[in-house]
Amino acid sequence: MAAKTYSVLITGANRGIGLEMVKQMVEATRPIQKIFACCRDPDGPRSEALQALAKKHPNVVTVIRLDVTDLSSIKQSAQKVGSLVGTGGLNLLVNNAGVLAHGTVMTTSPEDMQAAFNTNIMGPMNVTKEFLPLVQTAARASGAPGRMSCSKAAVINISTVMASMASLAASYSHMPAMSYRVSKAGLNMLMLCCSEEFGKDEILFAGLHPGWVKTEMGGSAAHIEAPESVEGLLRVMDSLTDKQNGAFLDYQGKPIPW
Ligand code: NDP
Repeated sequence: MAAKTYSVLITGANRGIGLEMVKQMVEATRPIQKIFACCRDPDGPRSEALQALAKKHPNVVTVIRLDVTDLSSIKQSAQKVGSLVGTGGLNLLVNNAGVLAHGTVMTTSPEDMQAAFNTNIMGPMNVTKEFLPLVQTAARASGAPGRMSCSKAAVINISTVMASMASLAASYSHMPAMSYRVSKAGLNMLMLCCSEEFGKDEILFAGLHPGWVKTEMGGSAAHIEAPESVEGLLRVMDSLTDKQNGAFLDYQGKPIPW
């Protein structure tokens, strides 16, 4: 990520792809100035690796409590981050937190469907809305009118190829995960609506598929390790311009059919 990206916020940053993203951003040769690494239980055992990273880089990484399913937690974190970024605003918001439950149309419980919607759609929607004023501030403060980029002002949603309606038939029988697919397809539409609504503010929106990654969600049979996925995601984010506003791409930059 370019040095001119001053501030980044990542949800679900305590493990998996989110944690790796914080790690690569802070260890980059041209590191980002401020990384707000959000997680829902900063003091719990699942956040130890993130806390260790923050301790190693106290001037860059700030751990913020943020449960994407809890509006008051989102509002509190937006207030805190707002006071820390000041007049520069927040350049990049990464909606990474997500949940996956297995099940077909017939076997998915109402609770799993609700949880998928709460975390994978309502979460990014509320996070985007509450942090938007900070991203708008960054867009205005950038001194680069007429351009779009992740180093200026952007919201990246971590989506999945499993949201692709065009490629559903090829994968549904061995990996239904119906609630996940439906919620991530909704997340993609949310991203498109945002790209229409906030284009006037010169804020870039995109949905990125990280590949099939060996994390708790991806499992041990996945194709790639988190470092490879995140290297690709950061490269793609760095390359985005207004031409990719509203795009759905994989971690290698290839467009995914809707
Ligand atoms: P993990 O299961 O390893 O991590 C999920 C992260 O989301 C954790 O940090 C978890 O926090 C957080 N999270 C879940 N619910 C909430 C919540 N309510 N509030 C805040 N944080 C929450 O998954 P990955 O790292 O693999 O996935 C990251 C993103 O990438 C997801 O959006 C996923 O859909 C997407 N993706 C992953 C793929 C893969 O193969 N791994 C493939 C395609 C997309 P906690 O520790 O508190 O549970």
